[in-house]
Amino acid sequence: MSDPYGKTWWGRKWWRALETIGLNYPDQRIVKGRALAGHSAVSGMSIDPGSVSGTVADANGTFEAEIRIPVYDNTTWNAGMTALSLSPSCVAGLLAGRLPKRIDEVLSSAGMRLLPKKFAAEPHNIITTSCGCSDTREVCAHIMALALVSAARMDDDPWLVLLLRGGPTRDLAGRLRAARVATMDAAQSVV
Ligand SMILES: [Zn+2]
Repeated sequence: MSDPYGKTWWGRKWWRALETIGLNYPDQRIVKGRALAGHSAVSGMSIDPGSVSGTVADANGTFEAEIRIPVYDNTTWNAGMTALSLSPSCVAGLLAGRLPKRIDEVLSSAGMRLLPKKFAAEPHNIITTSCGCSDTREVCAHIMALALVSAARMDDDPWLVLLLRGGPTRDLAGRLRAARVATMDAAQSVV
């Protein structure tokens, strides 16, 4: 059976990142989070730079949930776009509307990582959460539901992953081209 949350590698990596910061298998929060996601318990979801938020309702009430992740500034994103523009496979993938598997490897040359890595503790990798429920764990069932539903949204629209990290969401083709031209100009001025 195909998983409706995280059909793509990036969607899967996103919700699994949440799982790894707070939960161990088997954990009822995962089971309950999946049930909530499947029953459309998440409403008003918004994916913005640095934040995924939404309202999650269950039998105990309605809770405001938020997942936060650091954003990169413009200077860092410019360096990241330059690195991506120099990778033909990344350019082809991005222009075809998907995140290339190598994207984090390429971005690492600019000190970036789009999707958090398990157990990595660099400041730009750290996810924090908040939820209005009484569960004191970092990841409650509501956060899990929000992670799953947002992963499904990212499956359909990978640019949301860039947006979440403060990156460019419009005219990606133009940005990649401009980054490449700027690199070639710089190379020529050296010669
Ligand atoms: Zn909660």
